[in-house]
Amino acid sequence: MERLIWDAHVCLPLSTETDVSDLLAYRRAGVGFLSLNIGMCMNPVAQIDPVIAHFSAAIDATEGLKRVRTVDDLEPGITGVAFDLEGARPLLGQAEAVAGFHARGVRMMHLAYNRNNAVAGGCHDAPMGLSALGRDVVAEANRLGVMLDLSHTGEASSFDIIEASDQPVVYSHANPAGLFDHARNISDAQMRAVAQQGGVVCPTGVAKFMGLDQPPGAADMMALIEYTLNVVGEEHVGVGSDMWFGQEGVDETPPDGTFDPHYWWPERYGYDHSGGELGGGYMAPQEWSVLPGLLDARLGARVVDLVLGQNMRRVAAQVWR
Ligand SMILES: [Zn+2]
Repeated sequence: MERLIWDAHVCLPLSTETDVSDLLAYRRAGVGFLSLNIGMCMNPVAQIDPVIAHFSAAIDATEGLKRVRTVDDLEPGITGVAFDLEGARPLLGQAEAVAGFHARGVRMMHLAYNRNNAVAGGCHDAPMGLSALGRDVVAEANRLGVMLDLSHTGEASSFDIIEASDQPVVYSHANPAGLFDHARNISDAQMRAVAQQGGVVCPTGVAKFMGLDQPPGAADMMALIEYTLNVVGEEHVGVGSDMWFGQEGVDETPPDGTFDPHYWWPERYGYDHSGGELGGGYMAPQEWSVLPGLLDARLGARVVDLVLGQNMRRVAAQVWR
């Protein structure tokens, strides 16, 4: 039987011109599920809505990919896809708006993306707890079966969300600050709080958050996994690559003219706006062909089954509806 491999966060260009067949690299590498980003706090709803429609139709038309609503929809030999939303700004101040995203396949969301908003605090902004509106959003996500994700969220709001949620929450793509100090990385205390509630912490393949200048490989990911295992234990570790595919000629700039990349990724945290990327690159899908063997040799197949897929599957089985 195919071992379930779960990539907790993958990004394509947020455009109706995007070719989703890039995701078949995950099928070739044996990935059985990936969570696909459909928007962040900086993306207006006028951009997100057509992107969801395009990604949905294109995935449906692509052999080897399948949209899934619950874990029961996963199939061996096919890469299941559900959507994630990075931040609550696209809810436009309405907790009820979670339902519209859930109905269109969103199964995971953060409440803040790097900066504060009316719902929660971001990791690159002044300390801010979860607002009253944020508590309503948490309750609505719990009720509908949308997994709450603390990546990009500030520390105070992260602890508030864990406390407010009656379901386990996750870090779908966040690295230990204990290995590399960056404001986007998370403390051991944040990781433990997620684990104590039954959630999962997924280290991520972003060079910048490891202090690397080149795309991370499977060995780099293995070091992150081993650190995280030591902090939270074998039932609470996953992987989220955060791979971002640029595509020639596809422009994903938000269309409303207000987008300021220096606001969302401040230079003071080392983000580099000179090139097309924010510096260093991401763990490529092909690394998923190498990572399981490396981990098996080091940790044994039972633990690796948990880390590569079964831990995130367990939380999804509990939360998704
Ligand atoms: Zn992200």
